[in-house]
Amino acid sequence: MQNIIFIAPPAAGKGTQSEKLVSKYGYTHISTGDLLREEIKKGSELGIEIKALIDKGNLVPDEIVTKMLKNKLANIKGNFILDGYPRVYNQAEILNTIFDELNIGKDEVVAIYLDLDETTATKRALGRLTCSKCGRGYHSSIEELMPKNEFTCDVCNIELTKREDDNEETFKIRFNTYLKETAPLLEYYKEKGILEIVDSNKSTKEVFETIEQILTGDRLNG
Ligand SMILES: [Zn+2]
Repeated sequence: MQNIIFIAPPAAGKGTQSEKLVSKYGYTHISTGDLLREEIKKGSELGIEIKALIDKGNLVPDEIVTKMLKNKLANIKGNFILDGYPRVYNQAEILNTIFDELNIGKDEVVAIYLDLDETTATKRALGRLTCSKCGRGYHSSIEELMPKNEFTCDVCNIELTKREDDNEETFKIRFNTYLKETAPLLEYYKEKGILEIVDSNKSTKEVFETIEQILTGDRLNG
């Protein structure tokens, strides 16, 4: 199986697809956010430095993220999914250097882009519901994620709430910023010949089947 670089706008279902790949094929899921949190938790020198940056509201510089990512990839057994990195062109080049240094070949990696219409994305994002007590996520219009009783947590039996940043206007800005930032990334992976585009307007199941076809080399349209 190939390693996966996941590129997906908000609400494209990247989290759900990653979970399915982890449980069915044993992928290791790597997100740079998790790496940063792990390092802080370890209380290492680097972790303390990272925490200080975040506490001051600063972004963690690329060189720190790169260092951690390289370390993680060097010690990983089996295949991995990269989630949320690279996000911009410059990071794709950095990642390419890391792959070279670790002898991870081009044919061992596929960049999967979950393509989603703005209308579908907005509808999905605005339907997201969360239980403030247990943190379970639901959705008001995706059948497999609907609560048993409308607007109530199946477990806690309390009213579900909407995420604060999921209002239409802010979502559209987030969505379009993402598309603008990632366009050069897609170009980069297309030129390398490792880009696969998946129509993510379809159901979770159909999207997963397409991803499986890519990974097994059975995809028809290539
Ligand atoms: Zn609950």
